Amino acid sequence: MPYPANQIPFDPRDFASYKSLQRVAAFGKGADATTRQAAIDYVVTAHAFSNDQTTSSLLYEASLDQPGRNIAGDIRIGPPAFEQDQAWLAGVVFHELVHSPQYAYYSARGVTGINPNRSETERRMIALDEYEAYWWTLKRSSALTLSQVQQSDIRRRANSALIDLDEAKAQGLAQSQRFDAARDELIRQYKASLGGPRAAISRRRASACCA
Ligand SMILES: [Zn+2]
Repeated sequence: MPYPANQIPFDPRDFASYKSLQRVAAFGKGADATTRQAAIDYVVTAHAFSNDQTTSSLLYEASLDQPGRNIAGDIRIGPPAFEQDQAWLAGVVFHELVHSPQYAYYSARGVTGINPNRSETERRMIALDEYEAYWWTLKRSSALTLSQVQQSDIRRRANSALIDLDEAKAQGLAQSQRFDAARDELIRQYKASLGGPRAAISRRRASACCA
């Protein structure tokens, strides 16, 4: 699934307008939730991110101690997403939006209770999802205007997620960007290990999602 991100065109009329100053204010320490929510909504619209029905909500959460989190299509963006600049925030929001169709993909195949602490296969599903989200963020890094330092940070996280995906077949598929095929392989292994249907438990992304 392609995840678009358009470059935001420079509009000289926007320079120092009330709205653009409000967006700058969102990155100040202690900026209020309304201002930060407006900055989140702005990056989604201005970059034309794919924000389909697989995302139920996309909200700022002042008490969240990580940049972003996506639980079953409910995205929360925390204060750490505002610690750098608008490009970094856009990268965090973009990353979390990639997780929503992933969740829908598993869910449509009867996998709704992924818990990375329960089995190696479930841990690898999370690693695959993280790798895909970072890979797409790097792919869109020029439209997102991520700095070299920010790109290096994301590349390091992508590499570490790929190492965590330590099952040869799924890892090979992920490396050639066949993410759904890699997911199918892990789902097959997951179902084989269960040996039958079992009750779903609530899905939690225990690993912190950054960028
Ligand atoms: Zn993530």
